[in-house]
Amino acid sequence: QQAVLEVKNLKKYFPVKEGILKRTKNHVKAVNDISFEVQEQETFALVGESGCGKSTTGRSILRIIEPSEGEVFFKGVNLLDYSKREFRKMRKDLQLIFQDPYSSLNPRMTVKKLLLEPLLTHGTTNKKEAEQKVVEIAERVGLSKEQINRHPHEFSGGQRQRISIARALILNPQLVILDEAVSALDVSIQAQILNLLIELQKDLKLTYIFISHDLNVVKHISDRVGVMYLGQMMELSNTEDLYSNPLHPYTQSLLSAIPSHDPSVKKERIILKGDVPDPANPPSGCPFHLRCPKAYEKCAMEKPAFIEKEQNHWVACHLYE
Ligand code: SF4
Ligand code: MG
Repeated sequence: QQAVLEVKNLKKYFPVKEGILKRTKNHVKAVNDISFEVQEQETFALVGESGCGKSTTGRSILRIIEPSEGEVFFKGVNLLDYSKREFRKMRKDLQLIFQDPYSSLNPRMTVKKLLLEPLLTHGTTNKKEAEQKVVEIAERVGLSKEQINRHPHEFSGGQRQRISIARALILNPQLVILDEAVSALDVSIQAQILNLLIELQKDLKLTYIFISHDLNVVKHISDRVGVMYLGQMMELSNTEDLYSNPLHPYTQSLLSAIPSHDPSVKKERIILKGDVPDPANPPSGCPFHLRCPKAYEKCAMEKPAFIEKEQNHWVACHLYE
C-alpha cells in the first residue's frame, strides 16, 4: 500500500499580540509537530475536542493556512516547496468539504453555476463538456437535472451538503479533506451523507481525511484514527484497535463518553478535571497531565515520546514506555 499523503513534523504557530504595543510575545502552537501518513483510498480520521488543531492541520495541508514548519508530501512531492501560484494548479487534486454548506455556497448562483465555476477556473473551456460533467456529478450525489437550476436556499441542509460534495468532486480530486462535514446535520441525514461519501470513495477511488469531534461517526467511516490534544498527536491506530483497546488516557476518556448501544456493556464514564488549557500557555511535560486521571510525577516534567506500543498502534504516554 502506498501513502498518498505524508505529513512530517507539521507545525503551525499563531502569534499572540500582547500589551498596548501589540508586541508578539508568545505563540499559540495550534499544530505542534504532527506527523502521519494517509494511504491510498483509506479514510484517516483526525479527532479531538474543538481547538485541538485538527482543522488547522487540514487547512495547513491545503495551504489555506501557511504552515510554519514541516513537510507535506503528496504523491512524493513536498507541497510546501511550491510557490503559491504553482500550488494553485495542484489544488484541484486536493479538495476541502466543511461543516457549513450555507456559508460556502454563493446564494446568488444556481447549483449549475456553482458546479461549473471550479471547472471554468481550472481551465475547462469546452462548455458542452463542462455542462455534461455538471449533470453527471449532480446525479452522482443524488441531485436531479431539474434541481440544478435552483439556488442553494431552496435546498435542505443535507441537500446543500450534497451540492458542496459535488462541487469538491467535479475536478476529480484524489484527496478530500472533510472538516466536520456532517456535524451540522440531523442524525438520519448524517447517515445518508456518510453512506454517500463511502459510496463515492469506492467508485471514484478517493482518499479521505475525516476531521470530526464525533467519535460515533468516526467509528463508522474511518479506517485509521489519529487523536489530537493541544496540537499534538496522542494516539494513532487502526479504528478497530483504537475503539477496542484505547491506550492513551485521553482517548479512554473520549470513548467513555460515547453511549453504548449494548445495554449489557457497562461503561464507566471518565470525567476529566478542568478544561483544555490555554494553548498559548500549554503545560510542561505531557500536554494532558493537568487533566489526566493517571498522571504521576514524571508527567509534569517530561514530554512522553510517541512510540509504537503495538504493531501500527502509536501512543504518547509515559505509562507505555
Ligand atoms: Fe497521563 Fe502521564 Fe500518560 Fe500524560 S504521560 S497521558 S499525564 S499518564
Ligand atoms: Mg474545527
